[in-house]
Parts: sequence; C-alpha cells; structure tokens
Amino acid sequence: MAARMARGTAAFVSAVGAISLGLVAGASAAEGNAEVSARHVAAAQEAAGDDLTLALGNCKDIGKTFVIPEGKLHGMLEKLTTLGPRPPVTVFDNLHYVGTKWVSAWAIETSDGIILFDALNNAKEAKDYIEAGLEELGLDPADIKKIIVAHAHGDHYGGAKYLQDTYGPEVIMSALDWAELEKPELQYADELWDAPPERDVAVDDGDTVTLGDTTAQIVLMPGHTVGTIGIVFDVMDGDEAHKAVIWGGNGLNFGPDAGRFLDMMHSADKVREMAAEEGIDVFLSNHPGTDGTDEKAERLANRKDGDPHPFVIGTDGVERFMTALRECVAAQLASFDAEAADSAD
Ligand SMILES: [Zn+2]
Repeated sequence: MAARMARGTAAFVSAVGAISLGLVAGASAAEGNAEVSARHVAAAQEAAGDDLTLALGNCKDIGKTFVIPEGKLHGMLEKLTTLGPRPPVTVFDNLHYVGTKWVSAWAIETSDGIILFDALNNAKEAKDYIEAGLEELGLDPADIKKIIVAHAHGDHYGGAKYLQDTYGPEVIMSALDWAELEKPELQYADELWDAPPERDVAVDDGDTVTLGDTTAQIVLMPGHTVGTIGIVFDVMDGDEAHKAVIWGGNGLNFGPDAGRFLDMMHSADKVREMAAEEGIDVFLSNHPGTDGTDEKAERLANRKDGDPHPFVIGTDGVERFMTALRECVAAQLASFDAEAADSAD
C-alpha cells in the first residue's frame, strides 16, 4: 500500500504539537516525545534537500500511526486503481515501466527473457498494463520468465497468479511473506485484488536471481511487511552502466508496532550502506509517487544529447534518500516511543 495522501504543512505542524498527548498504553510504557520527533523530521528534511522531497512521505501526519480501517480499504483501492493509464516507458535500455499511475511494474529485459518486478492489482491490470505495455514497447509477455513480488500485499501480487497460469514463470518472494500469504486471514484483502499466486520460489537476503546475462541481488528490507524485498541490479544507458535499487515497500500502515518501525529504519540504513559500497546511483520504488516516475519519465522524453539521465540521482542522492526515509520513520516512531526511535541512532 502507498503511504497516505499528502496533507498540508499546517496539519503536519499541529500533529507534531499533539504528540505530547500521545501516551501509548502497554507493558513497555512507551512514551511519545514531540521534540524528538521534530528533531528527526529536521534531519530528514536536511537530507532530502530540495531535490528529494518524495523521500519525506512518512514525515506527514506525525503522531498519527494507523492501519487502514476494514471498511475503508475498498473505497481507497477503487480510487487508486482508477487514477487512469500510465503509458509504458523504456527508462533504461534494459528496464521498462509497465505499471499504472498508482503502482509500479518494472520489466527487466535480459538476454533470455524478462524478469518482472511486481504484478499490479489483478488479472485485468496484468493484461491492460503489463501485457499491453510490453507489447507496445516491442516485447513479448510470453518472455516473462521470473516474477519477483516485493511483498504480500495485493497491489504487488494481485496480477501474479494470472501471469503464472498464463506463462508459467517462476514467482519469487521472501519466505517470510509467502508465509504471510498462507495465513488464514490476510493483513489486507479486497475483491479488487486477485488471489495470491501459488507458492513458488522463496528467497532470503543476499540471494541472487539470474536470467540470461542479468543478475538481481535480493535485499531483504523488512518494515512495511515482515519480509519485504527489493533488488539491486545493473541498468544501461547507452554505453553507461548504472546500478539501481528498487525499494520494496514504504507505508507505515501497520499501527504502532515499534519493532516494525525499527526494522524499516535498519532496512534504510542497510541500503544506504550498500549504495556507498556498491555505487548504487539509481533509486526506484514500486509506487511511482515514491520515486517520481512520472516527472522523471517526462524529463526523459525531452532529454537532449548530453543531458544527464533523470533517473540517475547519484550515489550521494541514494544515500540521502535513504537517510531522509529513515529519519521520517524515526520521527513517526518517536511520536509513540521516543526511546525506541533514538535507540537506533
Ligand atoms: Zn504494501
């Protein structure tokens, strides 16, 4: 699920002001602290600068941890799944966007077929966006050999069963999130999401997924779900090679669970360190609103010879994005457990 819609600054400031009232009952006697939250928000804003403000999504509505109420999910999904079409676009020579306005599907073209990262909400979207999008870009959906699903929410796995039944690709998810899908009751379920795919390949942190000449490194990045995964892989812009990460899940829609907040902070720390060590200079997400797909695709379409590639934000950019994201998670955590938020520093 995506983070909630942006709210105005006024609402944000009043939310920070309200934190001191937010004492959470429970054995841990955890306590929120508005000043600690504000310090983490400031750190996030400093890291994001003017160019990476999309990293600040979780800094909105500080003091309001949430789960999506049972009666509200369907209406939200109806809105989000009918935002309108997003034309498919080739972003790098070997990477194509075939998602919707709301949720991403990334097709990595290899010498032996396609690795698809995420499968949208349902079979209809898999047909209308993934199949039709690939065809529009001159690719054959029958070449989808592997599908990596970021996490056990229907906006990412919903179209996977259709593709699995139609083309027989491997479907790859973390063992932890396969287990989530096998629970008697899903965290979130809705008729707009098709049934999960059949359990197939389970991966863990550091595993690799190879197809033809391409290897994607699996990065376990728990937080949004217990077993969220992303990938690190090479992308080509003409003669220039870059290294990309796809961040696999960003929303904090699981209530005031400090452990999950800390998990996401550690996940961001891990990717930030990987960016420095491995030279990751492209940040991608599985929601276009998080990585700015629309705006960057527009710039890409108007790119002139010699212009930089708009999706390449540099290693420093990826590191700052991860710092900003982490600090926003810390800020929200501090709104109900300030001690926990600072324990991770
Ligand atoms: Zn999700």
